[in-house]
Amino acid sequence: MKLWVNGGLQDQDTATVSVLDHGLTVGDGVFETLKAENGRLFALDLHLDRLARSARGLGLPEPDLDEIRRACAAVVDANPMRLGRLRITYTGGLSPLGSERGDTGPSLVVAIGEVGRRPDSTAVVTVPWTRNERGALTGLKTTSYAENVLALARAHSQGASEALFANTVGRLCEGTGSNVFVVLDGRIHTPPLTSGCLAGITRRLAVEWTGAQETDLPMGVLDSAEEIFLTSTLRDIQAVHRVDARELPGTPGPVTAKAMEVFAERAALL
Ligand code: PMP
Repeated sequence: MKLWVNGGLQDQDTATVSVLDHGLTVGDGVFETLKAENGRLFALDLHLDRLARSARGLGLPEPDLDEIRRACAAVVDANPMRLGRLRITYTGGLSPLGSERGDTGPSLVVAIGEVGRRPDSTAVVTVPWTRNERGALTGLKTTSYAENVLALARAHSQGASEALFANTVGRLCEGTGSNVFVVLDGRIHTPPLTSGCLAGITRRLAVEWTGAQETDLPMGVLDSAEEIFLTSTLRDIQAVHRVDARELPGTPGPVTAKAMEVFAERAALL
């Protein structure tokens, strides 16, 4: 496997960035995950926009998006596969052993790994930890993902593929790597960005294409919603057939099934 590190392609087994990279030592970095289907990168411009926004939010130097485009194309070309997860990581670079950033400039790594297609439905659990809707990093896709790693491990230990967080005021927020939608009285709702969730690209497309409403939702909605689904780059729209102990028979329900159909049709044209 070949990946891109700071200006050129390298072999994955021997590629290096500094062991004192601020991304490694303190999680000072931002990233994007894109879907590459037979070499076609889905929604590249939207991902690059969000990467630049996250970098700005974290005070990193403005990323060179032309270089990142070249890097993505080179990595995709060098590693042909049916369905790939392309990851762009942009970090603070070689830095002293503290929170202050060094002056060597950022590091850029673009890597790819093959993934399988996600099942059409999945189980989720809720976790007792909260997303902070007012934090300095809220809404930024930073590499500080340890909380998500922990919550996802809990989900896996309970036979689920995703964990859902509330925010600090007990409102439904998002998953470790996905946004959440619920169907109430036949209408689709998703938490607003003010809930502290990431501005998911799939979320944005799903809202645009299905007319879903952005609504502040209590966690209890997971007990009463007619249907629930997740969105993310690798899941697209994925129905939820179990939340904690609650089974949702007949998944995907009619509204989710329609949303999946509309999403697949529109995404193919993007
Ligand atoms: N929330 C979080 C915390 C995520 O990591 C992701 C995955 N990037 C999402 C939501 C979904 O975003 P997207 O649709 O852009 O993949």
